[in-house]
Amino acid sequence: MSELPPPRSHLPEQGLPHQEVLRQMESLRSEDARWRQGRTFSLVYHAGDEHRALLQQAYCLFFDENALNPTAFRSLLRMENEVVAMAASLLGGGPEACGTMSSGGTESILLAVKTYRDWARAQRPDLVEPEMVLPVSAHPAFDKAAHYLGVRAVHVPLGPDLRVDVDAVRAAITPRTILLVGSAPAYPHGVIDPIPALAALAQERGLGMHVDACLGGFLLPFVRELGHPVPPFDLSVPGVTSLSADLHKYGFAAKGASVVLYRNRALRRYQFFVTSDWPGGLFGSPTLAGTRPGGAIAAAWAALMSTGRQGYLRRAEQIMRTSRAFLEGIAAIPGLRVLGQPDMSVFAFTSDEVDILAVADALAARGWHVDRQQHPSAIHLMITPAHQGVEQAYLADLRAAVEEVRAHPERSGQGQAAAYGLMARLPDRGAVRELILQYLDDLYSLRGALGGVSSETP
Ligand SMILES: *Cc1c(COP(=O)(O)O)cnc(C)c1O
Repeated sequence: MSELPPPRSHLPEQGLPHQEVLRQMESLRSEDARWRQGRTFSLVYHAGDEHRALLQQAYCLFFDENALNPTAFRSLLRMENEVVAMAASLLGGGPEACGTMSSGGTESILLAVKTYRDWARAQRPDLVEPEMVLPVSAHPAFDKAAHYLGVRAVHVPLGPDLRVDVDAVRAAITPRTILLVGSAPAYPHGVIDPIPALAALAQERGLGMHVDACLGGFLLPFVRELGHPVPPFDLSVPGVTSLSADLHKYGFAAKGASVVLYRNRALRRYQFFVTSDWPGGLFGSPTLAGTRPGGAIAAAWAALMSTGRQGYLRRAEQIMRTSRAFLEGIAAIPGLRVLGQPDMSVFAFTSDEVDILAVADALAARGWHVDRQQHPSAIHLMITPAHQGVEQAYLADLRAAVEEVRAHPERSGQGQAAAYGLMARLPDRGAVRELILQYLDDLYSLRGALGGVSSETP
């Protein structure tokens, strides 16, 4: 990036020629993670150049349109309703099922938690401090929602199979509980929580039950159809009242697309926001955002329509085949161990013999973008079509990385591994929070843009 001018803090006095702006952006991205070569295992879901070209065309076709006012752009309204309907039919929704699109998994989850909070406010007006019970493996979006919405998150441990311990969930329910949560699958270990048992418990106690299928929603139905064992997890399970599924993950849509589905419209009403007294007019809004980009809706619709059931099945077959190659290859490397029994294409592995965080560093030095986990320390993988063909290169580098760490035990606990391991083990979690806050503060500044701080979240 040496040819780049220093970071800018002011508008250029005269606008730069378009070619120059584009050149600078190309230059800025030269050191970004190489997702195209299958070197990343999260963040980008790439289903090939042809598919990508269609998504871009669809996005550009509706580049200007705004789903804020659905009566102005009937096309977007229709596409959104069709996307929701296709998702609901894929995910066990009955005739009453409904939902909305949102900008992503986090928004879908935020909306669901808001829905249950407002449902509880209406049903149980005396309840002042609502709680939701969720597995420790549930996505942080629930904690974010809790934080934003004034709902207390009560975390429950996992059983030995890394699925949530249903007895612990039962024990965590109090008179203030409004919602139970399970994941299909959970991000850290890729295993599906015991949804039928959780949903039965929710039903018995009159609680909401949200299934976070952000990761699995557009993959598990096809994985099951291919003959892999997939336990019941969707809206067809009695007691499941809502579900989130990300189109921009295994739905292979453009970023900014997810669905949140509800068992019925009576529940979804609590998601909507209305104000009737604004001088700017009557105002009703289905989701968090005001302006809603038409491109994301259009690209999601294009992804579903162009891929079709058979296309998703073929892709699922390929993803599962590639996942198996990774899983078997990792298991065959002495000293490595996959955590639990992953239900699809997401998993983590650790080691009882070498410092796995040092292995992560050695892999990173070989050009892989590594996702690190804690409790226990592990390396996380999420397999997409981009990983077909890189299995052997990854496994060879992984094997070499393990050998390197084994040969140089003195390097364990150094570098990134040391920092990450220390943060994970530090008993004072308040201090860890403070460090992360400081890190964010530094990152979102021009110094952060200069690369003055590490470019990876701790
Ligand atoms: C990705 C993910 C989310 C959050 O989705 P975003 O689109 O990143 O906001 C929620 N739950 C699970 C299980 C996820 O993998």
